[in-house]
Amino acid sequence: MRYVSTRGAAPELGFVDVLLAGLASDGGLYVPADWPEIPPPVVGATYSQRAAQVIQLFVGGDLSPPTVERLCDEAYATFAHPAVVPLVQLHDRHFVQELFHGPTLAFKDVALQLVGRMFDEALRERGRRVTIVGATSGDTGSAAIDAVKGCANVDIVILFPHGRTSDVQRKQMTTVDSPNVRVVAVEGTFDDCQDLVKAMFNDADFRERMQLSAVNSINWARVMAQIVYYIVATDLLAGPINVCVPSGNFGNVFSGWIAKRMGAAIDQLVVASNANDILERFISRNEMVTAPVVPSLSPSMDIQVASNFERLLFEMNGRDGGQTADQLQRFRATGRLAIEPDQRATFVEGSFLAARLDDTETLAVMSRTYEESRMLLDPHSAVAVGAVAKLRKQGRLAGTTVTLATAHPAKFPDAVERATGIRPPLPEHLANLFELRERMTVLPNNLAAIEEFVATTWNKGDIS
Ligand SMILES: *Cc1c(COP(=O)(O)O)cnc(C)c1O
Repeated sequence: MRYVSTRGAAPELGFVDVLLAGLASDGGLYVPADWPEIPPPVVGATYSQRAAQVIQLFVGGDLSPPTVERLCDEAYATFAHPAVVPLVQLHDRHFVQELFHGPTLAFKDVALQLVGRMFDEALRERGRRVTIVGATSGDTGSAAIDAVKGCANVDIVILFPHGRTSDVQRKQMTTVDSPNVRVVAVEGTFDDCQDLVKAMFNDADFRERMQLSAVNSINWARVMAQIVYYIVATDLLAGPINVCVPSGNFGNVFSGWIAKRMGAAIDQLVVASNANDILERFISRNEMVTAPVVPSLSPSMDIQVASNFERLLFEMNGRDGGQTADQLQRFRATGRLAIEPDQRATFVEGSFLAARLDDTETLAVMSRTYEESRMLLDPHSAVAVGAVAKLRKQGRLAGTTVTLATAHPAKFPDAVERATGIRPPLPEHLANLFELRERMTVLPNNLAAIEEFVATTWNKGDIS
């Protein structure tokens, strides 16, 4: 399996090179040169076995089949539920697929537990070490740290905005006691953290010396690992289903598009947004215009420029990388992306629907769902459950729908308590989170200070 860049000007690479590179050298994102077909399910296969079977198609010969099977087994053994991502029925023809039983209680674990292990394996085979740097507003940082803690060939530094994450989110990062993990509280915003990470990558000398790498949501391997649960949902429900996805960076729902493209029996993919509704406006009205980010009860969806959208755009452009690069450059310059109506018709109509919920509506869904079916929803999952109800009421969505639940309710206890009166307890493996010692370094919003910290922590050489 070969991979091509969405901007058409980077070399084609194999799976492991794509895994380790993250971003392509032309600034684009890697996608497979062609989409394979889904292999028929093996009766009685576990989630991990189905995952290995699907993922093998994308890995090519880069990791051996027994290695892929072992990494999947290890990754999904960390989940607290034996079904890994259980389907729970909420209502007539409405199921919830719980993606939050991983170690850090958000769906990011499904991909990162596997990707962390793939990193370590690939680096060991190649005799290399990397330093992963990342910025987080909450969920990604803890999932990435948990995925690589204790890995022999990976060091990781996560930057987060000091004082701007929830206590649970911060403690999930700062209480991990592992010599290859460092957590930095930056005196700044999430955007400052992201800019610092970008600046480190743009510093070619530093990047090379530290062997910097990234596991953010544009990494192909994360998108790949997420395809599996869409396929498993269609295996189990045997028949066309719709899937509703609480969306931010468009990574999760794009994995659903790939599953459909590979032949999974998926009818509509529903993009659920909070007040940050750029994707909803694009899908419903063909208007891709950025607006300032508004904080909401579902912070992991507080995103305006959905980085993974580039992969769909590349498909809309008939895989013309030059055209994709031009469009994105105009988008960056003007804040507006223009897509030809016929292009959009082919890709959006019949495949994507969208709906948005504000915070008041989200709380109402959480409260109503608890009253009707005794299910506690976190605010992200509630946006999606509410989107399904809205579209059904408007007569735009019919048939069996699976809503993806992307976070455990205990990860957002304040919102859940506000809506339902119930404060969900942390699961057993995190029950002592508030008693553990925290380790973090507070640093100013200053590139030199951060680079100095990264370089000296593991003695990777002085900054000149
Ligand atoms: C990251 C995240 C999302 C958004 O997923 P995308 O792949 O960025 O669209 C939704 N819900 C939760 C809980 C998340 O952590």
